[in-house]
Formats: sequence, C-alpha cells, structure tokens
Amino acid sequence: MSPLEIRCPACNAGPGQKCSAPTDTGRRDVEWVHHAREDAASQGGTEAPVVIPALPTSVRNDSLNEPIVGLQPHDPVWSTDALRAEFEVLTFLAPFVEVRRRSDGALGSMQFQPSPRYYFAFVSEG
Ligand SMILES: [Zn+2]
Repeated sequence: MSPLEIRCPACNAGPGQKCSAPTDTGRRDVEWVHHAREDAASQGGTEAPVVIPALPTSVRNDSLNEPIVGLQPHDPVWSTDALRAEFEVLTFLAPFVEVRRRSDGALGSMQFQPSPRYYFAFVSEG
C-alpha cells in the first residue's frame, strides 16, 4: 500500500494529500512523506496510532535552549509535527500554548521554546 493512500500520523495529511512541513508562515506541501506514514502503510494501512518521535535524552537536552526547571529526563517532548498529530493547538500565549488532546478531548496547556521548536510539560486542565 502506498503511504499516500492513508492519513499521515505526523502531519495529518489526508489520503491522497501530500505531506506538509511547517514554514515561517504556515505549511507547504513536500514531495517526501513522513517516516511515520511509511511505517503505517507498511503495516497494512490501518489508522495507525500516533507515533511521537522519541528524542534521545542527550539530543533532546542539547536541543533545548535552556534547562527546563522541573522537566525530567523521560518527560515527553513534542516536535511541531508530533504536537499537531496528537493535539489541536487552540491559542499561543508564549511561552505557553493551549491545546486539546485529540484522543480524548482533554484541554490543557503546554510550554514551548521557539528555536528549535519543541513543546513540553503538558498539563491537563480537564
Ligand atoms: Zn506527513
């Protein structure tokens, strides 16, 4: 099955749509597909669970601009693609975002750092 026949777990591109990547002003279609979409297609094309790219702790900590108070080594950190796959972003109020988790509709907030863009410290308000 072609990856393009299924919904992309990473960027949420629908069947038949190209994957998209974030730009400064929005998103643009790209000619490649996300690994998560290829993986999902290779597993038969069922609606695969959202894959959160697990960032190795060492890489992750190097990537964060500043040490995050209270963030434990195994706390989840989301890339922009991973965040959008798992959460609907409601509002930005730096350094926080309001989000709704797609799986259960739970409202919550999350912190982010701008560059490189990572989201972390999800707190459910529901
Ligand atoms: Zn994609």
